[in-house]
Amino acid sequence: MANQDFLNEINKRRTFAIISHPDAGKTTITEKVLLYGNLLQKAGTVKGRGSGQHAKSDWMEMEKERGISVTTSVMQFPYRDALVNLLDTPGHEDFSEDTYRTLTAVDSCLMVIDAAKGVEDRTRKLMEVTRLRDTPIVTFMNKLDRDIRDPMELLDEVENELNIMCAPITWPIGCGKEFKGVYHLTRDEVILYQTGQGHTIQGVEVIKGIDNPLVEEKIGDGLAEILREELELVQGASNEFDQELFDSGDLTPVFFGTALGNFGVDHMLDGLTAWAPTPQPRKTNERIVESGEEKFSGFVFKIQANMDPKHRDRIAFMRICSGKYTKGMKMRHVRIGKDVAISDAVTFLAGDRSHADEAYPGDIIGLHNHGTIQIGDTFSQGEAFKFTGIPNFAPEMFRRIRLKDPLKQKQLLKGLVQLSEEGAVQVFRPLDSNDLIVGAVGVLQFDVVVARLKSEYKVDAIYESVSVATARWVTGDDAKKLDEFQRKVSTNLALDGGDNLTYIAPTMVNLNLAMERYPDIMFHKTREH
Ligand code: GDP
Repeated sequence: MANQDFLNEINKRRTFAIISHPDAGKTTITEKVLLYGNLLQKAGTVKGRGSGQHAKSDWMEMEKERGISVTTSVMQFPYRDALVNLLDTPGHEDFSEDTYRTLTAVDSCLMVIDAAKGVEDRTRKLMEVTRLRDTPIVTFMNKLDRDIRDPMELLDEVENELNIMCAPITWPIGCGKEFKGVYHLTRDEVILYQTGQGHTIQGVEVIKGIDNPLVEEKIGDGLAEILREELELVQGASNEFDQELFDSGDLTPVFFGTALGNFGVDHMLDGLTAWAPTPQPRKTNERIVESGEEKFSGFVFKIQANMDPKHRDRIAFMRICSGKYTKGMKMRHVRIGKDVAISDAVTFLAGDRSHADEAYPGDIIGLHNHGTIQIGDTFSQGEAFKFTGIPNFAPEMFRRIRLKDPLKQKQLLKGLVQLSEEGAVQVFRPLDSNDLIVGAVGVLQFDVVVARLKSEYKVDAIYESVSVATARWVTGDDAKKLDEFQRKVSTNLALDGGDNLTYIAPTMVNLNLAMERYPDIMFHKTREH
């Protein structure tokens, strides 16, 4: 029997990430959430494009220069009785691989929607990813201080386009200049909005009961009438919150507010900490691992370099799945079959790295990585299982990379292999040439690679175009047939950073022909680490 203190620690934890379309307000919400976590006295200006202030979660130089979040960071903070782990995800479209992998490390997601725009492209894509694991979703309709679309229509759009039922928990009263606050359906309270309180936790005015005459007095007869009409409609036409449907990812509780005005974020956090799942069981190739198991296990979902320029090391982010991490403990690095003593793991307190003495299931810890840890690696105590479902995506864009100074070829290769272990890009070495081809899911990654090669590996590299349309990892059950395939199409084959065989196709037509011609060979669009 696991001891009660251990189980209490697990049950306190809520590990989630935010999914949204760029500009919907993810960074702003993160800041307000941290404000509630009492971590920032005064929430900073959003990413401060040009203002010199940056959200705490944006670390790297590139991010500052461009005003985008390139990397995933982790923030832990207490909220009421819960301990929240918020995993930040890169906002820019080009960094979706990192985002996908981060979504494998959480137990729930907050979906932020710009209520003036509704469901946007990237939200759609990210929701598809959360569907693979039926991750529970909480929804925040943001920017109520602007003129938004009809709230009923917004809920319909979420239901129809994202195929998830909506259960409004709060309902907006007006919007834009007329935004007065929300009615909280389960608490039966009208909560009034005040402008100009975005940087602090506001003292709010609450009216108990929808039939309270104070409602008319505070929001005016007109809006009160509209509110009552809408509520009748909402209560008749939409769903009530249902824990089971939420747990299975079939229903999302919906909150309305403004992140910038810091209104409604606390309602959302109350809901999230009350309903979102505690650290969930995880699948391995052998069995399911429960969070309450006493033996330690975890997997690496991200590797990141140079978060702090003073520590020029690389950190492997591990999600703890079971057991307790204590300083100095031994764990088995399953892929290489060795026991390692971990004495200097780091935890993440809103962007500050501090040394962890202990950590529990649901927590993320950072391991110092000197090149032995890769994305997808499992750590355990004794057992040799491997956590599954951490994907690598076939890149869509390719460039040949070349040095300005050819003497630094070794440094270049080293840098590229390390960056590919981090999952930033993928490197391919064609079997029959000395070229180095870089593949990425988005074009911005190419710039990041050259910038990092320069600052971290001191090599100046440039790109040349290369006629590659797509790549597929290839495998075959029949060794003879795989052999024959390798001989026949060797000019199209390459090894990736982890020495996996890859088919490099100059055109989609070429790929389709190869797939037809070699039916015994499997061409994979994703590869599990
Ligand atoms: P992200 O790209 O999703 O991280 O979005 P940001 O948090 O950077 O927000 C994008 C822009 O929308 C910024 O200019 C924010 O100031 C603004 N914004 C965020 N939340 C709100 C809001 O509630 N109301 C208004 N009017 N603007 C907001």
